[in-house]
Amino acid sequence: DTALIDGKAFAAGLVARLADEVLDIRAATGLVPGLAVVLVGEDPASAVYVGAKHRQTMAIGMESFVHRLPAATSQAELMALLDRLNGDAAVHGILVQLPLPAHLDAHEVIAAIAPEKDVDGFHVTNAGLLATGQDALVPCTPLGCLMLLRDRLGDLAGLKVVVIGKSNIVGRPMAQLLMHEDCTVTVAHSRTRNLPDLCRAADVIVVAAGCPGLVRGDWIRPGATVIDVGINRIEADGVSRITGDVAFDEAGHAGAITPVPGGVGPMTIACLLSNTLTAFRRRHRIPASALAAE
Ligand code: NAD
Repeated sequence: DTALIDGKAFAAGLVARLADEVLDIRAATGLVPGLAVVLVGEDPASAVYVGAKHRQTMAIGMESFVHRLPAATSQAELMALLDRLNGDAAVHGILVQLPLPAHLDAHEVIAAIAPEKDVDGFHVTNAGLLATGQDALVPCTPLGCLMLLRDRLGDLAGLKVVVIGKSNIVGRPMAQLLMHEDCTVTVAHSRTRNLPDLCRAADVIVVAAGCPGLVRGDWIRPGATVIDVGINRIEADGVSRITGDVAFDEAGHAGAITPVPGGVGPMTIACLLSNTLTAFRRRHRIPASALAAE
């Protein structure tokens, strides 16, 4: 019987623990972790994400600073805002919601965030720290996937993992994290040959391709664990629904699988809050609690 990996419940538990920690820290020090989110323009999906981040940040007792800038904001204006946020002692985490309007240079914007406040983990300093096995702020989605895998499988050492997708946001940092767990990692992408055979040999498949139904049932070894990162909006018979990158109906022989929605998705904001608390602790040299070290 396939187990469903309940990311929604796991994320709720993580968020509740973070809320307790914020409360304890406030009581002990009077300090409050703060997260600044910058949204440029009116992309509707981005506005929804930013709203959700704001609500959840407030809900666990952190401070939330949302900066909504017009689509016509210049690169110089955005850089000036980031400069202010870098120097603002009440701000421990800074996130610029992507994608940015086309006239703005996302690489330059990310490079302008102080690495110790880069809670998305996209700055080259954090990417480099992660790649070399040092303390980094780790991108939220792969961090959430790793937490689900460890919760499900315990020690991951020696497992054969295929990561499908090599983006800087998901696939690449996922592969780095799994290498640190001593997995044997294969990174596949749109030019990979014999992807079905690679998958059939895997103990774990993590797919982040943005390709609905890409991973078919006969690609999955019986008992394998499947983490589906894909979020695809499908229109059928006039109704729109969200599906992942796995042909979920064919995966009944998997050992465990994340549903979409309700699997990886809810972990991302929970890990953003976790990263904000991590950045805050490092700034104020407050050691991680035994709870957080789990
Ligand atoms: P991306 O487009 O930047 O990268 C996709 C990667 O998948 C590329 O490396 C590409 O080579 C590979 N790929 C595409 N089609 C493929 C195919 N047919 N076979 C093998 N490889 C293929 O996307 P991304 O930003 O990494 O996001 C991937 C998916 O994850 C999207 O569906 C996105 O919506 C979702 N996502 C979810 C969360 C979340 O759950 N919170 C966060 C980020 C991204």
